[in-house]
Amino acid sequence: MAFRKRSHMKQLLTKANKARILDAIQQAESETSGEIRVHIETTLKNRAAFERATELFYTLNMQQTSQRNGVLLYIALDDRQFAIIGDEGIHERVGAAFWEAEKETISAHFKRGDFIEGIVSAIVQVGEKLKQYFPRQQEDIDELRNEISIGETIK
Ligand code: CA
Ligand code: CA
Repeated sequence: MAFRKRSHMKQLLTKANKARILDAIQQAESETSGEIRVHIETTLKNRAAFERATELFYTLNMQQTSQRNGVLLYIALDDRQFAIIGDEGIHERVGAAFWEAEKETISAHFKRGDFIEGIVSAIVQVGEKLKQYFPRQQEDIDELRNEISIGETIK
């Protein structure tokens, strides 16, 4: 079956889906000073998702926001694993319960194989939360360029 040979990555990262993710980030950031990014790779290579996400958070320089309110959504697609981490500014306000609730939302979509819905709804919900604690200021700047980073090559 030709369809099955297509990687999950290709199925997920169509032009339309990429646009949906970037639109969701932009929409969220239009209401908050918080910064959201998404990183997607195929496999964890036996690492723990949270550890890998933490490593990437710093590799992608996501700690460089003035209010420490960057949030990274990390996905290891073929492993169906993911993690969501927020910098200390957001973490000390929302606490562990928020991340747990987010994980459940994402997980429910991923279990159905609906990765795009899982990602987009997580961005929307994180955006809502960021908005509560870090409303967008008039002079807001895009501290972390909106992007989906992809692949294992980022160490
Ligand atoms: Ca911003
Ligand atoms: Ca941004």
